[in-house]
Amino acid sequence: MPKSDLSGIEASYLKEAYRLRESGRLPSVSVLAHGFRVTMPSVIDVLQKLERRGLVHRTPWKVPTLTKKGLAEARRIIHSHRVLEVYYGEALGLDETYACAEAAKIDYLIGTKAVERMCDTLHHPARCLHGFTIEHVKNGRMLKPAALEG
Ligand SMILES: [Zn+2]
Ligand SMILES: [Zn+2]
Repeated sequence: MPKSDLSGIEASYLKEAYRLRESGRLPSVSVLAHGFRVTMPSVIDVLQKLERRGLVHRTPWKVPTLTKKGLAEARRIIHSHRVLEVYYGEALGLDETYACAEAAKIDYLIGTKAVERMCDTLHHPARCLHGFTIEHVKNGRMLKPAALEG
C-alpha cells in the first residue's frame, strides 16, 4: 500500500488513536465521535476503511485497536507531524497553533527521506511544540535520545 493512499481523514483517525493511546485512553467509537464532532456511524465508516487496510482491528462491542501495522503507520505520521511542527515553529518562527495546523495538512503525505533530513537538521528534537515526546525510529527500531547524539 503506497503511504499516500491514506486519506486525510483516515490519517487523522490514526493520529487520534495514537494520541489517545499515548495519554492512556482508548479510541472508542464514542470518544472518536466526540473528538471529531461527527456521528458514531461516520466514525464506524472510517474505522472500516482502516480495518480493510489492516491498520485497525475491530471486534463487535470492543474498542477498536491499532494493529502492529497501524501502530507503525500512526507512529510514522505522528513523527512527521511533530518534526514539521518543530520546524515551522523553531526554524520559521510560526506560532504553535498555526504550525500544528499546517503540519497536519501534510504529515501523512511527506516522504520519509524529507522528514528524516528535517529531523537531522533539528538535531532530533525531544518534544513537539505542545510538549509531547517525539519518538524517533530508525530501521524499524525506536531510538533512545542518547543514541542520537554524537
Ligand atoms: Zn501538532
Ligand atoms: Zn526523528
